[in-house]
Amino acid sequence: MRYISTRGSGPAPNAAAAMHFDDVLLAGLAEDGGLYVPERSPVLTPAELESYRDLSYPDLAKRVIAPFVGTAIEEAALGAIIDDAYEDFDHPEIAPLVEIGPGRWLMELFHGPTLAFKDYALQVLGRLFDHVLAQRGERVTIVGATSGDTGSAAIAACRDRDALDIFILHPHGRVSEVQRRQMTTVAADNVHNIAVEGTFDDCQDLVKALFGDEAFRKRMRLSAVNSINWARIVAQCVYYVWAALRLGAPEKQVAFAVPTGNFGNVFAGYAAREMGLPVARFIVGSNRNDILTRFFATGAMEIRGVEPSLSPSMDIQISSNFERLLFDLLGRDGARVAQTMTGFRETGRFALDPAVLKRAREIFTGFRLDDAGTKSAIARVHAETGMLIDPHSAIGVEAARALGDDLDVPVVALATAHPAKFPDAVEAATGVRPELPASLADLYDREERYTVLPNDLAAIRAHVSEHARPVNAPGKAAESVT
Ligand SMILES: *Cc1c(COP(=O)(O)O)cnc(C)c1O
Repeated sequence: MRYISTRGSGPAPNAAAAMHFDDVLLAGLAEDGGLYVPERSPVLTPAELESYRDLSYPDLAKRVIAPFVGTAIEEAALGAIIDDAYEDFDHPEIAPLVEIGPGRWLMELFHGPTLAFKDYALQVLGRLFDHVLAQRGERVTIVGATSGDTGSAAIAACRDRDALDIFILHPHGRVSEVQRRQMTTVAADNVHNIAVEGTFDDCQDLVKALFGDEAFRKRMRLSAVNSINWARIVAQCVYYVWAALRLGAPEKQVAFAVPTGNFGNVFAGYAAREMGLPVARFIVGSNRNDILTRFFATGAMEIRGVEPSLSPSMDIQISSNFERLLFDLLGRDGARVAQTMTGFRETGRFALDPAVLKRAREIFTGFRLDDAGTKSAIARVHAETGMLIDPHSAIGVEAARALGDDLDVPVVALATAHPAKFPDAVEAATGVRPELPASLADLYDREERYTVLPNDLAAIRAHVSEHARPVNAPGKAAESVT
């Protein structure tokens, strides 16, 4: 399996070897600034899909992920990584489907260690990094910024991984206590939480500056586990296949309603559809930050400011993974994508031809829900089913309700976070405060570890230098930790 960049004109003749899965995994972004996509999508035939119906989630994951990995990782090693990644999830089905109305389903993607869907991919990604780096005798230093919600999933994915050190910057005093504790109570020597005396934007700027310092970046072998990493998309394909098989695929079609931010989750669904999964439609849910809803209505992608909402993980200005869809919409013409994205960066806007928009709308529909609508959706689901759902999931559920009837197929709304991650919003809507699951019940009693540092690049750089293990000294073999 070979990979190409969304901004390239195909694999360079001499660089073919540099585009296998393991390189794409470690690189994240392509050198030309584009995103990696498979040269050709692997295909799952109806007969193959049929034969996967009774597999456990990890066994299904092995079948779905293997064709994307190709020969880059041995089958047995990949299988062990996947088994290990899902071992500690707190539900035997990993991604259970719950019926919430006639033909309406909720897929619970919050049974991982940090209670959000990002665990489903990051738990695999951390182990893949560790495995590939150990094979090469290399190490990397992962650096990232979080506004509170995503840092914990990255930390949980990288903890105790021998080939990785991870530094996560969060704005001091500006993340909720649950969020902070999910990051700072992880007792692992390779996990470093930095509370920056500044805002989330300051944290992001600091991370950008660290990556921008080429000498430092090379010396520390800086890397990221962000949402554009192709391996995350691949791991997220699995639950779309899982849900569709449970609802009658390959004979019958299904639709998905996906609370969307960076377009990574819903793009994974699209990638599963490209493999042959019979998906009638994706409903792309947004909050008040509705750049995608406006795009699917008009064909124009237009940046506006970001405003905080009840669903902070969807508070985005642009959706970085959208570029992968754009590549397909523009006939996989990398030069056109590069031109479009350069223009977008300069002007904050691009518009697609009506014919191209029409193709997008055959598969995707946008849906927008403001905070008031989110609250009433949480309240309605609670009144009708007794279930508590988080504000992100509520947008998916409401999208399925508003638009699902026209589709005439089962609609699966993705529940992307556990209600206890957003207890205030849930309590305000229902009067009931959601409880943390047993695995995190003692979160408030655990010891926290973090370092408060000024909003100052030199201070952060010195701290990272001092606390990361040397990258040129390979650690123990991966086998001893996985
Ligand atoms: C990250 C996240 C999203 C958005 O997912 P994308 O892949 O960025 O579209 C939605 N809900 C929750 C709870 C998240 O953490």
